[in-house]
Amino acid sequence: MSRYTGPVCKLCRREGQKLFLKGQKCYTEKCPIERRAYPPGQHGPAQARRRKQSDYAVQLREKQKVKRIYGLAEKQFRNLFEHANHIPGVTGENLLIALESRLDSIVFRMGFAQSRNAARQLVRHRHVEVNGRIVDIPSYKVEAGDEISIKPKSKDILPVEASLEARTRPTLLDWLALDEKQRVGRMVRTPTREDIPLAVQEQLIVELYSK
Ligand code: SF4
Repeated sequence: MSRYTGPVCKLCRREGQKLFLKGQKCYTEKCPIERRAYPPGQHGPAQARRRKQSDYAVQLREKQKVKRIYGLAEKQFRNLFEHANHIPGVTGENLLIALESRLDSIVFRMGFAQSRNAARQLVRHRHVEVNGRIVDIPSYKVEAGDEISIKPKSKDILPVEASLEARTRPTLLDWLALDEKQRVGRMVRTPTREDIPLAVQEQLIVELYSK
């Protein structure tokens, strides 16, 4: 399945909550979900009125929500889940930690890009270095101690500057360090579930994929 390239606000409306897919713009622009709090499409209002969802529907929506937040296709998401399921620890937590450790997610969390989509583009366009070497793979797994930086020639490009200057960006998480002026950051340690500010029930995803 290819990546979704349509209007991202529709995805939030489909999940019935703000997923902040436009990143910092979500704090400054009018949010459609506040005006139309029902799923998109002709039958959206009717779906919103339906009271009870099956267990399967609840699990599916939770999986779709997380997949959309990180902007992954089903196959990529499923592969990450399989990996999380085969390493020691709690599968759901492993999955979220793996998602957060992706290079595009770290670039976004450090504030070099206004959204995960923008971070992915920054990586793909070869503006980002890991330990001094250009890495153009958004899914690259960042390890504790790795240094993430914007390459010297790109330090002052507009998207990076605008993102770092935006006042509304979320505060830096304490497992990351950042020298904003030098455009250099570091993953200080591997995050735990408690370090990931995401209101999702990852256990539901495990239940869905375990059927
Ligand atoms: Fe989602 Fe942001 Fe659009 Fe609101 S403005 S619907 S939070 S992407």
